[in-house]
Amino acid sequence: MPRYEYRCRECGDTFELNRPMAQSSAPASCPAGHDDTVKLLSAVAVGGTASAPAAPSAGGGGGGGCCGGGRCG
Ligand SMILES: [Zn+2]
Repeated sequence: MPRYEYRCRECGDTFELNRPMAQSSAPASCPAGHDDTVKLLSAVAVGGTASAPAAPSAGGGGGGGCCGGGRCG
């Protein structure tokens, strides 16, 4: 069963509901009992993690601390 996300315009809360596609556009009440809600688009694969694109290779040169042990020269 697909999951849909809704947002309440009264309390501003967002909530998710698992309901059949046939009822995806049906009115949904927020957990607080408000009826003034809007259905949000699916947030799947939108945005993402803010992690670094590439981690520096461990043990490689160019880090600045290569010659700390005196093994580089
Ligand atoms: Zn509400």
